[in-house]
Amino acid sequence: LFVVFEGGEGAGKSTQLAQLAERLRAEGRDVVVTREPGATDIGERIRALVLETTTDEAPSPRAEALLYAADRAHHVATVVRPALTQGAVVISDRYVDSSLAYQGAGRTLPVDELSWLSSWATGGLKPDLVVLLDVDPRTGLSRVAERNRAADRLEAESLAFHERVRYAFLDLAAADPKRYLVLDAGHPAEQIAERVARRVAELLAP
Ligand code: C5P
Repeated sequence: LFVVFEGGEGAGKSTQLAQLAERLRAEGRDVVVTREPGATDIGERIRALVLETTTDEAPSPRAEALLYAADRAHHVATVVRPALTQGAVVISDRYVDSSLAYQGAGRTLPVDELSWLSSWATGGLKPDLVVLLDVDPRTGLSRVAERNRAADRLEAESLAFHERVRYAFLDLAAADPKRYLVLDAGHPAEQIAERVARRVAELLAP
């Protein structure tokens, strides 16, 4: 089973992802927790290129899209597919939708082309479930700032950018409702974790 967590900045993905992994492990399941970008050695280097450069050194939007696609191709080939083949539950922090939302809606690159690029990079691997933690960017960005992670990069991206990203995620979910679980990230973490666990249990039921 392949589960992906998506959402804007400060949506609480990492907390929820860790809780789900813990629950599944407690049930004796084999769980692989992973992320994009940066799950592999090559991915770490790509992550540094896209996320740790100053604003004037940042890759151009198309270069950025290709770097995320390269990270994803390598991630799927070396981590996700092998783990799925072994029967593990794979839980990824971000996947294709992040590219459609950030590079597509955010940076205004053509979404159909990005979708094709992602599909080429992954060999068409789709998640069984996407948990979208929906958050108003004002709330999310202030949570991130509190954690002292407000890099120049986030400040360089306008509120309008993050709003486009938010609505792109919601549109993707609306277009394929069976595959998505959309939750309000403002709800208490335990309540969110409960909803996620219930949905995953349904999918794992024989
Ligand atoms: O989820 P995490 O905080 O690790 O994401 C790191 C950053 O990478 C996010 O702030 C997001 O802006 C960016 N990102 C992106 N496009 C992707 C994936 C991540 O812009 N496809």
